[in-house]
Amino acid sequence: MASADVTVRFAPSPTGRLHVGNGRVALLNWLYARKFGGRFILRHDDTDTERSTEEFVQAIELDLTWLGLSWDARYRQSERRDRYAAGLDRLVAAGRAYPCFESAEELSLKRKTQLAAGRAPIYDRAALKLTARECDQFEAAGHKPHWRFLVDAKPVQWDDVIHGPMRFSGSDLSDPVLVREDGTPLYTFTSVVDDGEMGITHVIRGDDHLANTAVQIQLFQALGAAVPVFSHLALFTGAGGEGLSKRLGSLSLSGLRDQGIEAMAINCLLARLGSSDPVEPVEHLADLVAGVDLSHFGRAPAKFDPEELTALNHKVLQKLPYATVRDRLAALGVPGDAGAFWDAVRPNLTTLNEAADWVRIAQGPIAPVVEDPAFAAAAAQLLPAAPWGEQTWSDWTHAVGSATGAKGKKLFRPLRLALTGREHGPEMMKFLPFIGRERAAARLAGETA
Ligand code: GLU
Repeated sequence: MASADVTVRFAPSPTGRLHVGNGRVALLNWLYARKFGGRFILRHDDTDTERSTEEFVQAIELDLTWLGLSWDARYRQSERRDRYAAGLDRLVAAGRAYPCFESAEELSLKRKTQLAAGRAPIYDRAALKLTARECDQFEAAGHKPHWRFLVDAKPVQWDDVIHGPMRFSGSDLSDPVLVREDGTPLYTFTSVVDDGEMGITHVIRGDDHLANTAVQIQLFQALGAAVPVFSHLALFTGAGGEGLSKRLGSLSLSGLRDQGIEAMAINCLLARLGSSDPVEPVEHLADLVAGVDLSHFGRAPAKFDPEELTALNHKVLQKLPYATVRDRLAALGVPGDAGAFWDAVRPNLTTLNEAADWVRIAQGPIAPVVEDPAFAAAAAQLLPAAPWGEQTWSDWTHAVGSATGAKGKKLFRPLRLALTGREHGPEMMKFLPFIGRERAAARLAGETA
């Protein structure tokens, strides 16, 4: 296949916020398109009008944009009802779709009876036996049909990029409902109509859809559309092995954004987690493109560990140039030369938001920790005159060392504790100028400043 022919899609249902599992599907589709010079389509699967909302459509687009994923085309299934109606007409004409009139209660009873008898809940095709006259009678009595696809009993096979050779017997599949009584077309059907019409060459999605694929392949064939290549990704589990649900707020992309996690940290993890390729902190999405290989993903569920993400976030932060973070630092009230401040504090940050803690520590007021007031007073006497720069700390600590005889940890620890109130923190050489002479003197005197 010429690489320019690659067309993929991300097809979220706008019934909730995106979580890391959805983000990963979007990202891998996007990376795949970029790697092969293809197209990435965003398609909102919003035919479920009761659960889909405009807010979620907007939120999904915001989250994708935040990750850096742009789309080459955008569709909403709710605007394509005529395509699904036309698709159904074609299937009916080909004898592959048929009207059914059972009520939800009748169907539920059938299912229960089958399950109680130890049989798979496969639709019994009672409606196939209805004559045209009987169908007319139902309609005349005010019943609207729902429509089912007539599954072929022959085996369905495909070579899944991740799951390998897959084989289902058509006779084990239940005829799926394509369109409800109220005219609402359902996912199994709309997805195939769209994938066919949009020329989707590769379907990359979660393996919770593996079972749908056999029926969908028959649908592609019945509609005369090319069957795409399928890659079904094993779903993530939480660190404790539990499933990730859309409602898991802390693992929603927006929740992670609010926690101050970098989009690129998420991208770096999601691009590789569950594959045999190493997770690497890189600065740009483009750096992830060449390395994406779906055949390297495993069949076993991968654990999504928020701590791994946090550790990666720290590494990604070390790569971000000041220009990238300038506006966000300004919003945190970073003082003076914010570029130098960034340089000073970033080795100590897990998330960028934590820079605000160091702003507070630099500008005070903080309660200093002075364990030896005489030593602190001697050090205060030797504070160099302003202005202060990166040389100040070294000049000052040399002088304090000579005057008091303290060196190493005995010299540096009490000064850091007095000046920052903390045992650990940024390199004092870089951080001291942000405290400034006046506050430093006050803190060394044990004053809250
Ligand atoms: N709307 C479906 C979902 O969110 C799309 C699945 C697919 O990619 O076909 O699960």
